[in-house]
Amino acid sequence: MTDNENKMEKIVSLAKRRGFVFPGSEIYGGLKGTWDLGPLGVALNNNLKQEWWKMFVDGREDMYGLDASILMNAKVWEASGHTGAGFCDPLVEDVETGERFRADHLLKDNGIEAEGMTLSEIDALIKEKDIKSPKGNDLTNAREFNMMFESRVGATAGDEGKVYLRPETAQGIFVNFKNVVDTMAPKMPFGIAQIGKAFRNEIAPREWLFRVREFEQMEIEYFVAEDQWEAEYAKLLEDIRAWHQHIGLLDENIREYEVPDNDLAHYSKRTIDFEYNYPGKGFDELAGFAYRTDHDLKNHEEASGTKMRYTPVDGVPFIPHVLEPSFGIGRALTAVLCEAYTEDTMGESSRMYLKLPAHLAPYRVAVSPLLKNKPQLVEKAREVFTMLKKEFGNVAWDDNGNVGKRYRRQDEIGTPHCVVIDFDTLGEESPEHKDTVTVRDRDTGEQKRVAIGELASYLLQV
Ligand code: ATP
Repeated sequence: MTDNENKMEKIVSLAKRRGFVFPGSEIYGGLKGTWDLGPLGVALNNNLKQEWWKMFVDGREDMYGLDASILMNAKVWEASGHTGAGFCDPLVEDVETGERFRADHLLKDNGIEAEGMTLSEIDALIKEKDIKSPKGNDLTNAREFNMMFESRVGATAGDEGKVYLRPETAQGIFVNFKNVVDTMAPKMPFGIAQIGKAFRNEIAPREWLFRVREFEQMEIEYFVAEDQWEAEYAKLLEDIRAWHQHIGLLDENIREYEVPDNDLAHYSKRTIDFEYNYPGKGFDELAGFAYRTDHDLKNHEEASGTKMRYTPVDGVPFIPHVLEPSFGIGRALTAVLCEAYTEDTMGESSRMYLKLPAHLAPYRVAVSPLLKNKPQLVEKAREVFTMLKKEFGNVAWDDNGNVGKRYRRQDEIGTPHCVVIDFDTLGEESPEHKDTVTVRDRDTGEQKRVAIGELASYLLQV
């Protein structure tokens, strides 16, 4: 196993051991492609979503929020093309075991990039290169497999009540385009942003949170006049770069892959995939940024009969063009954990810690009394804890084991600072230190004495 594969394994195991990510339905043997966020995972996930919303919605004047239903009229997915071949993956089966695989993934594992290939091209390559299933058996011919989960509403039988779990949040935005324009009177260019669950019946879920069947997306549809698209694309590109920096991803671990013209979806004029250098896997998609022309709104206008137009000051209504930055939260969470995971030596011992940015850490700070069997220390520590909790909300109380062990435990979950209330705080040992506490820094291990009255502002600065 390479160091990098090893690193990924350590992250996955840490995430389980410390309550970030659990396998879905674990006590029943799990359900492939599902993962549950534990107490610390949901905190990190919420912080990611909040920071994204602050940056892309609250931090701007040209963005409007939305929260559309997961279930939508099935006609939405016909108009968007998701019920057709456009949202299918090529499926092959092991002729002996019946196990199913994504043909393009099997080819990729053999060093062949199959994106955009037709089924017969895939079959020809499988034959030519004599590619077998992972068990060494022959494979069936490739066929299209649609990734949408189907369900039914109410008690209707047959196709009448058929619905799909949305495979992307984007269509919820398009179908509400007119509602937002009519209610908010936005000035062009403007965007509609949404965070929510999406579902894809992936043939082969794999690589932890990377390819799952239920996940969350943060998507923006940014509406522009056709002649504005290039300038606005350049601006949003900078915003996406700033976002990845804001969540602590190093430039050197991000690659912008300009999708070549012959691989672009027929309606797209430009797409950049933001790829992250996942340990043991290498660069693969983290987020996408596509210029989708007026394809979506035009299709919805045709299919629904409702005008999807914007009326500018000169009074000639037109169908806007669309720029779509699309982020998967699970992949962002994975990248953030990979970037934060650090091993070093502190004092005599080696340790591992999560070097998470303070605005993402599940706990902003941990508070503890030096000894938990000294009521005066505990009482003072509770006072400090309550004060900080009012300021930050996500504050941990940690009085288990000795202080050294608490530091290691907090390091492991990425808590930027630990505050300890000791006898000095009570003024029993050195009166000049009365009402000061020890603040210990996660990354350097350095300790400072800070007055309780200045603690919150100190923590906000460091
Ligand atoms: P891939 O090529 O990896 O299947 P995609 O190009 O189909 O991804 P998009 O349709 O562009 O993905 O979706 C936007 C984002 O949603 C992706 O960049 C990714 O972060 C996330 N995403 C898509 N599918 C999955 C999945 N099965 N599991 C986790 N995240 C996903």
